[in-house]
Amino acid sequence: MNASDHAEKTTDVQQEKPAPAGAVTGREQRPSNTGSTKADSASRMSLQEAIAYLETQIARVEEMQQKHIARLERIIEVSRILNSNLNLQALLEDIISIATELTNTEASSILLVDKKTGELHFEAATGVKKHEVATEVVPPHSVAGWVVRENTPLVIDDVSQDPRWSRKIDDATGFTTRSILGVPLRVKDRVIGVLEVLNKINDEPFTEDDVQTLCVLADQAAVAIENARLFQQSDLISEVVHELRTPLTSIRGYSQLLLSDIKPELKRQFAETINREAIRLGQLVNDFLELARLESGRAHIAQDPVDLRQVIEEAVSIIRPQAAERDITVNVDLPEDIPTVIGDAARLKQVLLNLASNAVKYNKDGGRVDVSLTVDKDRVTIAVKDTGRGIAPEDLPHVFEKFYRVVDSEQEAVGTGLGLSIAKQIVESHGGEIWVKSEVGVGSTFAFTLPVAQKTKPGQR
Ligand code: ADP
Repeated sequence: MNASDHAEKTTDVQQEKPAPAGAVTGREQRPSNTGSTKADSASRMSLQEAIAYLETQIARVEEMQQKHIARLERIIEVSRILNSNLNLQALLEDIISIATELTNTEASSILLVDKKTGELHFEAATGVKKHEVATEVVPPHSVAGWVVRENTPLVIDDVSQDPRWSRKIDDATGFTTRSILGVPLRVKDRVIGVLEVLNKINDEPFTEDDVQTLCVLADQAAVAIENARLFQQSDLISEVVHELRTPLTSIRGYSQLLLSDIKPELKRQFAETINREAIRLGQLVNDFLELARLESGRAHIAQDPVDLRQVIEEAVSIIRPQAAERDITVNVDLPEDIPTVIGDAARLKQVLLNLASNAVKYNKDGGRVDVSLTVDKDRVTIAVKDTGRGIAPEDLPHVFEKFYRVVDSEQEAVGTGLGLSIAKQIVESHGGEIWVKSEVGVGSTFAFTLPVAQKTKPGQR
């Protein structure tokens, strides 16, 4: 992001429209004047007064620092939200709602430049359906056209006095615009559109802080919009790059925070976040490579006799500590005789591990996981049943897709969204099938089959 760049650009705005901009900067300058006057009088204070004064000053600085950190954290969070949304329309809706929240305004809209024609169109606006705004071309002499052409933020505190303003959209939507702040959406130096916010709540003028905040948001938003557009004509590569970007954004943001002047206890917390995201990044890369190998048929799948009892027990022993931490009982039910299957023990263990760790991750505290194996003529069926929150019918057909994560999984449990795709590939490469049954609020059962090795005649392996 290039906030300083934007800050300079904002000065251009001030020169262009002296009245509102003067109000903006005037407000910013006042505290430092007041501060120096107080500092002078501090020398004439009694010791007690001076201490009290210093204490309030320290408290003020701490409060400002906390607000600053809170804002930086919110911006990292926002960039995470934006980066993780690849559906263009949903992303635009997210951006306008975050823009109004951050600038305390009534409404927001996004206009994008059509790459082929260079024309500007409304793509999203608060409370308006896409088809209601997207039809008309927005002319170059409009407010948004000016922002695109000049590549500069623009503040208009009273639109009725500005010739660039047109009431056409207001007439179509029934909204009454009084003031506007518009900033360019830029990818590198290319302007791809405009982000506008309308009407400060209580009709206050826009501040310097609003301009800067919206510029920072616009920088993040523009990159996310480009990604989402790329993804629309997408291939696997953009999918992977996108997935890698989310933890990377986090690592970058939190490491920047670490480098700033912050309290030791926050340092530890941020370092832990960085560490967690770095581990996730490593896991994503490994999982993705494994999936790419399996999908392309380049993976070497061993063809050895596999002791399924051992495979199941090893996998279960890995997840037991996680389960114990949340008071989840793990029960394993295996028959005496388990037929041998032919395959890759390490990969089958991976399948079990994915299913069992999901059964714990998405379970409720104090819940239960049942791992069972049943033998049925020429195949065995292994099932992992949990008492978790279950999966909604609309999500169920998608859970084996790459990177598919049910909304909310993101907050609740770490994961890559690749575990089940890998499990499916491995099971199918062994000639088996995998499926899931689930009931919301009751739990899920993931099960898979494996063909039993044909009985061999004496002398054959
Ligand atoms: P992840 O790394 O997100 O766990 P998976 O491919 O293993 O990825 O699972 C995909 C999604 O399916 C998960 O994000 C979660 O939403 C859902 N899911 C998987 N297993 C379960 C389960 N046992 N109970 C509820 N939801 C599950």
